[in-house]
This record gives sequence, C-alpha cells and structure tokens, in this order.
Amino acid sequence: MYDVVIIGGGPAGYAAALYAHNYGLNTALVEKDEVGGTCLLRGCIPAKAWLQSAEVFTTVAKAAEFGVQSSEPTFDWGTALARKQKIVEGLVKGLSGLLKQRKVDVINGFGRLDGPNRVIVNDGEQVLETKNVIVATGSVPRTIPGYDFDGVRIVSSDHALDWKARPQRVAIIGAGAIGCEFASLLADLGSEVTLLELMDQIVPGADAKAARELQKHLKRRGVKIHTGASVAAPTISESGVTVPFGEASTEVDVVLVAVGRAPVTDGIGIETTGVQVDRGYLVADLTTMQTSQPGIYAVGDLLAATPQLAHAGFAEGIAAVTHIATGEAAGPDYRAIPLVVYTHPEMAEVGLTEATAIEQGYEVETHSHSFLGVGRAQIIGQNQGMVKLVVQKDGPILGASVVGPQAGELIHELMYIVGWEALPEEAAAFIHAHPTLSEAVGETLLTSTGRSLH
Ligand code: NAD
Repeated sequence: MYDVVIIGGGPAGYAAALYAHNYGLNTALVEKDEVGGTCLLRGCIPAKAWLQSAEVFTTVAKAAEFGVQSSEPTFDWGTALARKQKIVEGLVKGLSGLLKQRKVDVINGFGRLDGPNRVIVNDGEQVLETKNVIVATGSVPRTIPGYDFDGVRIVSSDHALDWKARPQRVAIIGAGAIGCEFASLLADLGSEVTLLELMDQIVPGADAKAARELQKHLKRRGVKIHTGASVAAPTISESGVTVPFGEASTEVDVVLVAVGRAPVTDGIGIETTGVQVDRGYLVADLTTMQTSQPGIYAVGDLLAATPQLAHAGFAEGIAAVTHIATGEAAGPDYRAIPLVVYTHPEMAEVGLTEATAIEQGYEVETHSHSFLGVGRAQIIGQNQGMVKLVVQKDGPILGASVVGPQAGELIHELMYIVGWEALPEEAAAFIHAHPTLSEAVGETLLTSTGRSLH
C-alpha cells in the first residue's frame, strides 16, 4: 500500500514525488514516457535551448559593434538541435537519478484510476493500492478546425522543436507565449515569419503597453504581425500552405499552430472516482489541491482555473504532498506567480496588469521607466524595453511588467514586492547596485513615490 501514487511525471508530478521524501511518504510515480513531462522534454527547456542558440547567433552577428571582428556567422542547425537534445537528455538523467535517490518507485506505463484507491498500470500489468492519488497528466497542444497536425505542413510546438532544418516561410497561429517565442527565434535565425493573433494584442492577458513594446521589437526584426486576425481553413499544395486570414492570405512552407494546450484526462479513469471535471479540466480546491474526492489531488496543466506554467505545477505538487502529509493548506500564492516570455527581448509580468486591476475595482496609477538611458543596458547593447508598475492609489504595488534584457530575472524582485504588498516608499527605500539592469526597476520604484532621479 502506497501513501501516494502520482500519475504523470512532468514538473507538477515529479515535484510532488521529490517533495514526498520530506515526509517519508511511500511514493510511486507512474509515467508512460520518460520523466520530465512537457516542460523538460517538449517545452520550456528545449525551447529555451533553441532561443539561446538564436541569441548567440545574433550576438556574434553584432560582434563588430563591440570591436570584435569575426567572419559572417553561419548557423549549423544540426549542432543546435543536438545541443538542445543533449541538454534535455542530461536533465532527464539527472531527474531520474534524483527520484531514485529519493526512493520513489518510478513505474513506466500508462496509469488509470480504478476508484479512489487503486491505480492500474498498462491495463492490469500492475495494480497499485494507495491511500492517495495525485493526478498530474498535463496537457497537449490543441488546434483549430482545418489545421489537423500532420507534422510536416501543419505542426505543433512538439514538432517544431525537432525540425531538422530551418523552415524558410512560417506562419504562426496564436501569439501567446509559444507563438511569440517561436516568432522571435525563427526571425533571429533568418526565417520569414507571419504571426497571426485572433485577439487585438499579442500575448493577450499581458499588460497592453508591455505587449505593444514587445510587438514593436518583433516587428523591427522582421516579424509580420496581424492582430485581430481570424484564420480560415488552409489550402495545402506542392508549393506550400496558403493560410487565409480576413481579406488577406499568406503562402508559407509550414504553419505552427500555437493556440493553447488542452488538458489530458481521457482514459485515465476519472469517471471511476467522484472527481469534478470542468470542460476536461479537473477541479480542485486551490488551497490544498484536493479534488471533490477526498484523497485524490490534481496538479499542473490539467487543473481548472490556474496558469499552465511549470513553476505553478511545482508549487501545486508541493502543496498536494504537504496536505497529504500534514493536513495543512499550503496552496500556491497565485497572485504573485511570474510569467516570463523568453522572446528577444524578454517579457515578464507579475501580479495584476493595469486592465485587470481596474476590472477588479482598484483605483490605480502607473509608472514606467525605459531601459534607454540605463548604463548597463547600453553597455550590453540591449537598451530596448521598459519597466511598468501598477500601483493602487495610496496603496501597495499591485503588479509589474518588464520588457527588456533579462526581464525574466528582473521580475523576481518585483515578485516579492507584489507578493508582500509593499508600498512604493518601502520598496524604493532599498538601493540598487550601479551599473546594473536592475536599476531600471529601482528608478521605476522611485518614480512611484512621486519623486524621480534620472
Ligand atoms: P496561449 O493560450 O498562451 O496563447 C494562445 C494564443 O492563441 C492566444 O493569444 C489566443 O488568443 C490565440 N488564438 C487562439 N485561437 C486562435 C485562432 N483561431 N487564430 C489566431 N489566434 C488564436 O497558449 P500557447 O502559447 O499555445 O501556450 C500554451 C500554454 O503553455 C500557455 O498556458 C502558456 O502560458 C504556456 N507556456 C508558457 C511559456 C512561458 O511561460 N514562457 C512558454 C510556452 C508555453
């Protein structure tokens, strides 16, 4: 009898499995593939490896500006692909070793619930009896009518991460995190990219000013962006794929569909339990991660009403295990989970945007500061972008957006500020080192007190 059986070995599931050792729980992890899940095998890690190769390429191409002479760089796609694969394999190996060290029974197979206390592996090859189950089966790319994935002309991010060569003409449908990251890296590597977004801004849900800033930089690098674009069914021919949108159309070699991810809950026996399901997503109490069926927990991308982010999954896995072991409600603080879009330049946000704050009834003021005059940003040759704060009138800092160099790192000081509901004067009292990129944050904090320096 296990204390807990986890179905799904992605970030949410493996975090739960790793964390369980803190409480001495007898733990099994059932995974049909390798451990690592979308993030490690087909998502964050390989995507960022590609983005890094693109960044090195553009840095070398601009080397002469820094006084470094070199010949015109060429991009060896195969080497970048192999490097990405090696990073993934190294991390999978490290994770497998850690699970073993933590004495987690990793069972390779397809897990299915049979009532609340039993998990059947590969249709009965193994039957696991358990006191608790954590469901962490994740998500898969979804598509839109007419755009069934064939892996060649119509692809998802899963396929694109393993392209064997650079596609010349690419249409990307959906300008969320995935669409924008691929647009950025493909443009840097020399593809002709058309980004088609249904809503009226890229990265819908992000701060409108930050999204406009990112859009400006992507456009400057040659990405053709159409927002408010309603895409109709494509025509596939010898020469490529024609994608109609509105009155226009574009012919490309390949279409990458990045319109979101669907939860994976089919075939895992949810109907044998009392777990409440909402349009395919599992519903759980977000303070404990427990579903409507005591002893069954849901974490990660398949969870309803939570962000589909690996780091949210980690926190949810930890919360589920904590509740199993101690009965404590340790659910994540969803107010202050950072979102990072790893484009060039990066975009990162935490807390409320101006629009959501107003929607929630706050009276707000906003303060922005550009990277333009920031010494360190000029030194590294990346002084594009800005920091924006959303502050409650006579109250705390509610949210922040950063578009610019290292935005994904800079957002973390703002995470504490938002999470701890700091007032502008409290946050601005601390001194940022000079010269650093973080000074852009410091300057914006100072401005939010009503005084400014530069
Ligand atoms: P998303 O939901 O973030 O974005 C999908 C985009 O597609 C939206 O902008 C949406 O308006 C648009 N869209 C939907 N239907 C469309 C249509 N018919 N035509 C044109 N546009 C359409 O989803 P994603 O980018 O596919 O990413 C999936 C999930 O993975 C998200 O939750 C995302 O946050 C997460 N993710 C995060 C990161 C990161 O944090 N850096 C990276 C990749 C993925």
